[in-house]
Amino acid sequence: MISVSGVRGIVGQGLTPELMLKFSAAAGMFYGKGSVLVGRDSRVTGNMIKHAVFSGLMSVGCDPVDIGICSTPTVEHAVKFSDAVGGIIITASHNPAEWNALKLLNRDGIFLDEEEGRRVKDIIDKDLIEYVMWENIGVSSEKTCVTSAHIKSILSMDIIDVAKIKERKFKVALDCVNGAGSTVMPEILGELGCEIFPINMEPTGDFSHNPEPVPGNLTELCQVVRDNKADIGVAVDPDVDRCAIIDENGNPVGEEYTLVLSEKYVLEKRKGPVVANVSTTRAVDDVAREAGVEVFRTKVGEINVVKKMIAVNASVGGEGNGGLILPDVHLGRDAPMAAAVILSALAESDKTVSELKKEVPLYYMAKNRIEIANANADEILKKIIDMSDKSKLDLTDGVKINEENYWIQVRKSNTEPIIRIMAEAATQEKAQSLCDRYIEIIKKFTG
Ligand code: MG
Repeated sequence: MISVSGVRGIVGQGLTPELMLKFSAAAGMFYGKGSVLVGRDSRVTGNMIKHAVFSGLMSVGCDPVDIGICSTPTVEHAVKFSDAVGGIIITASHNPAEWNALKLLNRDGIFLDEEEGRRVKDIIDKDLIEYVMWENIGVSSEKTCVTSAHIKSILSMDIIDVAKIKERKFKVALDCVNGAGSTVMPEILGELGCEIFPINMEPTGDFSHNPEPVPGNLTELCQVVRDNKADIGVAVDPDVDRCAIIDENGNPVGEEYTLVLSEKYVLEKRKGPVVANVSTTRAVDDVAREAGVEVFRTKVGEINVVKKMIAVNASVGGEGNGGLILPDVHLGRDAPMAAAVILSALAESDKTVSELKKEVPLYYMAKNRIEIANANADEILKKIIDMSDKSKLDLTDGVKINEENYWIQVRKSNTEPIIRIMAEAATQEKAQSLCDRYIEIIKKFTG
């Protein structure tokens, strides 16, 4: 349940209020005295968890500030532009409704890194929580308007041409999957002069489809695009840090291409290094090469991308799962910002979404997983390293084998007894057959 990246689980089956109270008290000890902003997505368990989080924070002398249901990037933005000592986000991101989790932000509105996460975990493991005396408990309060402030910051980014977007009066189909997106997406699209065709907007936490914004879950949105002859479809996950788009014909562009199209647009405006995790499409490298800039690859995990972006002063970064990160406003994946960037790219180029996609290299990805039960994941990875051509290996995260026309990556999960396999190639069939081949190899290794 508790790891260096927070606490997560199924509510009623392990993820208890006691656990979350303890975790929040430990977070409060880590932060020290001061206000801590607490935001949540729309999950039905969010309100119950919020009370446990508040108790935990107040019991160690922190002052929790309820910013209500809002997007993850909105919480990051609010923490960065306040005097808060940190933030807690109550969300299980793209996972189904029964899940929930707590994620911690530092005072800059950036997720804690592994080392900081370990310090919080140590406070729990070593029983170091010190509850304050009754006269020193924290004071809770509420704060509104954090979403409007976030939107205002996005629209004042100099790479977003608000006037030109407004002129186009884009027709936008929007799917917020009953998550926190309804607090921010209609408002920002409205400010951009779009005509919106919304579905699944009530923030009930009763997700109307599997909430991960991948093509198989977006068929309803594709239909809304076609029915209304929309210029674009926009889908977000429940906490609104991932954004996937649908083209004007109702075809999913693929979540990898939110980053690729944004990267191309941003690099036309300003040259600078690009950062992406090792599992992100190779199209990122092609676009960067064309622009004459360098790409840095990191381990999977948003914080790894963010830290590298800071280190190399990146122009643009992100993850292939629809997570765009720009240094302009705050350092975290931001779906409303991604939507604004894509609309700006459409407005300035006077092209359609499908035309923009044709301008970048096309690859296909396949993903699979295999349960390994009691087998040792590290030993399996070592055997794969031993059988591979060393000059083609990238060991940034698990084992990635870079061939001229395709790549394959095998890595272990930190939370489950499984190994994940990903492949990217020029056709879907080729990518799938690469995945299948490595599944067979791993099966042989595990007997
Ligand atoms: Mg998310």
